[in-house]
Amino acid sequence: MRELLRENIATLKPYSCARNDFTGEAEVYLDANENWQEFVGREDVNRYPDPLAAMVRKALEEVLGLPFDQTIIGNGSDELIDNLFRCFCRPGKDSVLLMPPTYGAYRVFADINDVIVKTVPLTPHFQLDLPALKRCLAEEKASRTNEARLKLLFICSPNNPSGNAFPLDEVRTICSLFDGIVVVDEAYFDFSSQASAVSLLGEFENLVVLRTLSKCWALASARVGVAIASKEIIAVLRSMKYPYNVGGPSQDIALKALKQAQRVKQGLALIKEERARLRTELAQVDCVVQVFDSDANFFLVRVTDAPSIYHYLLGKGIIVRNRSKEMHCENCLRITIGSKQENDVLLSALKEYEHA
Ligand SMILES: *Cc1c(COP(=O)(O)O)cnc(C)c1O
Repeated sequence: MRELLRENIATLKPYSCARNDFTGEAEVYLDANENWQEFVGREDVNRYPDPLAAMVRKALEEVLGLPFDQTIIGNGSDELIDNLFRCFCRPGKDSVLLMPPTYGAYRVFADINDVIVKTVPLTPHFQLDLPALKRCLAEEKASRTNEARLKLLFICSPNNPSGNAFPLDEVRTICSLFDGIVVVDEAYFDFSSQASAVSLLGEFENLVVLRTLSKCWALASARVGVAIASKEIIAVLRSMKYPYNVGGPSQDIALKALKQAQRVKQGLALIKEERARLRTELAQVDCVVQVFDSDANFFLVRVTDAPSIYHYLLGKGIIVRNRSKEMHCENCLRITIGSKQENDVLLSALKEYEHA
């Protein structure tokens, strides 16, 4: 792993904040230049938060089985994605491998960090193209120099925008094929019945798994994401993050949600019910050509005329995502599974479109 790191990160002397220097309980805190007063009606905001969000990580271990000493909390998983680029990829030199169509943020973070993007597209049925991937990785290995190396490979499972999860066996194959860092983004893991790549962490030192509380846990605004990886990788990610990257109120809310796991599970069942119903009903709408299988809380739907239907829905106050310009997604909309009422509004609008 060390040989994959950027030199400046490998030799970094991390910023040491007040909450790192002293971590016990004390009577009087005069170490962090905080203001003891309170102006907004809540007691939990005038002190700096725990930089390592230990309580949240403890709860993640208890509720989700994510090992306490192998996790780091990010300001959403987006922050963790960006930080992986900043740890491993030398700007203007190194590259990452993406498998489009996939989550758009990977490419944006690559561009921001001046990292070259290589691609091995999914098949037209949105499956991993292992033979093409093998060829690409072998080619890269053969042409690699000290000045340019493929560092990261992103697998989004279940994949956004296609919605399908990849078999864990294929993820394992990729981990053993690639000698860089494999990042498995499991933002939609909870909605899937596929096993988690967390179970591969014992086997592979080069694996990072990402989770988030933004989707199934209904905390998109709290900005709480998680990376699970080897202790070595976690230590590096901790060394270079913003000291107080996740605010105290967000940590509190995350804890609260994790204590409501039973209710969240019921909520998940509701979404899965709606997923089955919406799938059946969408398939019967005339302007729908194909509904792709989903292991997530959205559907990729091929329609007769995506731009036209997108604007038609917009006019009715219904916002979906037009994904037509993405690889293999011609005339495709991505539709989030909403409440029963919201889904009904969508369905009746789509049925009316046929006659519009
Ligand atoms: C929504 C999403 C994220 C972002 O999650 P945050 O934790 O809210 O930053 C990450 N990856 C994928 C694939 C997503 O769809």
